[in-house]
Amino acid sequence: MVLLDGKETSKKIQEELKEKVDQLKKEGKKIPHLAAIIVGDNGASLTYVNAKVKACEKVGFESTLIKLSESTTEEQLMKRVKSMNENPDIDGYIVQLPLPKHINETKITMAIDPAKDVDGFHPENVGRMALGMPCFLPATPAGIMELLKRYEVPTEGKHCVVIGRSHIVGSPMAMLMWRNELPGNATVTITHSRTQNLKELCLQADIIVAALGKAEFLTAEMVKEGAAIIDVGITRVEDTSKKSGYRLLGDVKFDEVAAKASFITPVPGGVGPMTIASLMINTLKAIEMKELI
Ligand code: NAP
Repeated sequence: MVLLDGKETSKKIQEELKEKVDQLKKEGKKIPHLAAIIVGDNGASLTYVNAKVKACEKVGFESTLIKLSESTTEEQLMKRVKSMNENPDIDGYIVQLPLPKHINETKITMAIDPAKDVDGFHPENVGRMALGMPCFLPATPAGIMELLKRYEVPTEGKHCVVIGRSHIVGSPMAMLMWRNELPGNATVTITHSRTQNLKELCLQADIIVAALGKAEFLTAEMVKEGAAIIDVGITRVEDTSKKSGYRLLGDVKFDEVAAKASFITPVPGGVGPMTIASLMINTLKAIEMKELI
């Protein structure tokens, strides 16, 4: 079994990006600038945003973090989005989701300039991805593809079962796995909460991407010997032995599934760090995207 080490791979990608930034500096070119807007004080979201900003600093990008209060109105946020679109110094930016309930997420996502949409959530980027045109790929699926590429996990002609069809993980993941390039060229089955024969489908899979958000859902009896397992899930469970008071569990029952798998991602240290690395890759790409979108 090969452990797909997202932490190490992400570190390596960040070193590569740092070299590129150093080169840009030497050539007197613009250094990529990522901005992040966060509304409210959701603890998990703040942790994610801070990790993104820290990663920017590490690779030498410029970064701006805008923290807005929970009571920010949709109109006020829309103004911020517009000013980000118009600011030539900002190459890419994210609006951290979820937003407070009184703000329409779709409306905000639609207002982001697609050429600065480093999260890849704007419908124009989703459409471009579907058509194989230049675009920003959503960070989590893109990070998984990068991991599959770097570890040379075979995908061509393989049967990939994706569990979950969300817009940010499951659906784009399926699209990237069936695209006509490598990694990709897989035969894909996408499953969701109404799928009736999930166990049988999983038992046929050469690759399983578990992205449903249910701790330790995928057990050894659902997995074929030699399958590659990608665990996207992150669930916090109370653990008084930890300083933080909690530990993270994935969607895969790791120990028993690892014993059957050819490749597997751990949680933590698998897909999570790759998501941040992808966002950094997208930010570097943002400089050239202005010409392409
Ligand atoms: P989501 O929006 O809640 O979507 C979950 C999907 O799983 C839905 O499509 C749902 O089906 C499906 N599902 C739920 N129960 C199921 C079941 N019993 N069998 C089959 N499918 C089932 O979640 P998400 O945003 O995609 O995130 C999924 C997990 O990944 C979460 O734990 C999240 O924290 C984690 N995540 C991790 C990263 C990372 O960087 N590592 C990034 C993003 C998300 P329906 O469509 O029918 O409801």
